[in-house]
Amino acid sequence: MKKIENEKRTLTLMIKIYCKKNHNSNQLCDDCAELLEYALSRLDHCRYSENKGFCNQCTTHCYTKEKKEAIRKVMRFCGPRMIFYDPKMVIKHLLS
Ligand SMILES: [Zn+2]
Repeated sequence: MKKIENEKRTLTLMIKIYCKKNHNSNQLCDDCAELLEYALSRLDHCRYSENKGFCNQCTTHCYTKEKKEAIRKVMRFCGPRMIFYDPKMVIKHLLS
């Protein structure tokens, strides 16, 4: 799988988990849906494309301050939990 596709999948999953646990909704709530859409479009426009690392290690901060804070919360919340959802993906993530 392409790296960028992989990251999109991870991101989508993380925001879904975050929303489910924090906003008690099975569907993404409006805020989370907006955040996901924003994050995915940033990935599409990322100038590092296939050679990039994961966004949290990226030196180019393409997120607005507000969105960065929001995505950081999602990552902080989901990071330790991801292993239960998709261990293979987390291992890949750690190795990349
Ligand atoms: Zn939500």
